Amino acid sequence: MKAEKAEAAGVAIQPPRGTYDIVPGETRKWQALEALLCPVVSAAGYKEIRTPVFEHTELFKRGVGETTDIVNKEMYTFADKSERSLTLRPEGTAGVVRAYLSHGLSRQSPPVKLWYMGPMFRYERTQTGRQRQFHQIGIEAFGSEGPAIDAEVIVVAVDCMAAVGVKNFQVHLNSIGCRQCRPRFREILKEAIASKRQYLCQDCQDRFERNPLRMLDCKSPACQEHYQGAPASLDNLCPDCLSHWQGLLSLLAELGVAVVINERLVRGLDYYGRTVFELIADDTRLGVQSTICAGGRYDYLVETLGGPPTPAVGWAAGLERISLLMEPAQAETPLTFVVCPSAPAALKLACAVRRAGFSCELDFPPQGGSPRGFARQLQQANKTGAAWSLIQGEDELQGGEVTVKSMKDGSQARIPVEKLIAFLQENCRNGV
Ligand code: ATP
Ligand code: MG
Repeated sequence: MKAEKAEAAGVAIQPPRGTYDIVPGETRKWQALEALLCPVVSAAGYKEIRTPVFEHTELFKRGVGETTDIVNKEMYTFADKSERSLTLRPEGTAGVVRAYLSHGLSRQSPPVKLWYMGPMFRYERTQTGRQRQFHQIGIEAFGSEGPAIDAEVIVVAVDCMAAVGVKNFQVHLNSIGCRQCRPRFREILKEAIASKRQYLCQDCQDRFERNPLRMLDCKSPACQEHYQGAPASLDNLCPDCLSHWQGLLSLLAELGVAVVINERLVRGLDYYGRTVFELIADDTRLGVQSTICAGGRYDYLVETLGGPPTPAVGWAAGLERISLLMEPAQAETPLTFVVCPSAPAALKLACAVRRAGFSCELDFPPQGGSPRGFARQLQQANKTGAAWSLIQGEDELQGGEVTVKSMKDGSQARIPVEKLIAFLQENCRNGV
C-alpha cells in the first residue's frame, strides 16, 4: 500500500527499506561509538568537517566515477523544484574535496587533515551490514606525498578499532601504481586475461575494456579462479611507486602494524594511486560484509574536481558494521529518583538535582490513571534501576528535609534539603 493511502486508512507506516531507527538502548551504543572515535582522530590532528547530505549529482559523477557501482546503480538522485539534479551523498570524500576547494583550504599549509562522520545513502540490496542509509566516519589528509602520511592514516584506522574494542581484523594492503606505471600494468593484465575473457562474469567482461583493474576484486569465485596467477601491480611499479611502497611497509613494521599484502585489492579509478588498504574483520556477526574500513591514496582527485594538483590519502569506515562488533552498551539508568506524592514538590526537587548535574527522574501518573502512592512510586524507583531514592513524604516536606535511600543496600539518611546536593557530590562519583 502506498504511504499516502496507508496514512488515510490509519495504517502504521513502515520505514523505507534499508533504513532503520536507532532506538533508546541502541542510541547509547552510537553515542559511545562517537565518543570513542572522535578523540582518536582529533589526537592525530584531524579537524572535523560537516558537509551537506546532498550535493550536485555532477560532483559524484566526477568524484566517485561513472564506471563505479555507486554512480551506475546506487545513487539516490532527484530533481529539485528548480529541476537541478541533486544526489544524496553516497560517500564522504567527494563532498569533503568539494568543501576543501570551496573554502580555499588548499591555500593552508599542508597537510590539511579533516575528518567527518554522518549518514550516507546508497540504493543497494539490503542485508546484514548493508543498508540504504548507513553511517561512516572518515579521514582525509591533503597535501603530503611521502609514505609517512599513508602510514599515519592507516595507524589512525587501527587505533580507531582499538578504541571501540574491535580486535579481530587484518589490514590488507596493496599498491596500484601511478599514472606513469599503471597504464602499462593495465595492458599486461589484459594480455594475461584475454584468452579467458569469454569465461568471465558479465561484469568482468565489461570491466575488461572499461576498467580492467576492477576485474581483480570481482566477488565471483569463478572469476577469481581465472585470476589465479594473474600479474600483480606490485611487480610492475615504477621506481617512485616502488620506493613509496617499500617506505610504507617499513614504516608500518616500525609501528608494529601487521599487514597482509593482498594483490587483489584495487581501486579502479584513475585518480586513485599507490596505496590501497582495507580493514577486514573475521567475525560471523558481519555475515559476508567483512570490510569495516576501506581507504587509499587519491592523488588525482582534487585536480579532477577542479583544484590544484594535490596528493591525498584517506579512508572511510562503516559504523553499522563496527557497531555489530561492539559489546552492547550498558542500560541507561538514572542516578536518583524522587519519591514524593506532591507533584509540585517532586518536580521542584528533581529540577534542583538535575541542575546540579545529577540525573534524576520522578513519577508521572500514567494515561487514564491516578497519581501513584508512596509504595508504588518506590517500586517505580526500583524498576528504573536508580541508585538512590530521594524520598519526601508529608513529614520530610514539613521539616524541609529529604530521606536519601540507597537502593543497593537499603540504608537511608534523613537530611535537610539544602544539604542534598553536597550529599550527592560526596556519595556519587559522577553526574550520570
Ligand atoms: P562493499 O564492497 O561492502 O559494497 P564498498 O567498496 O562499496 O564496500 P566503500 O565505499 O569503500 O565500500 O565504503 C567504506 C566502508 O563503508 C565499507 O567498508 C563498509 O564498512 C561501509 N559501507 C559501504 N556501503 C555500506 C552499506 N550499504 N551499508 C553499511 N555499510 C556500508
Ligand atoms: Mg558497495
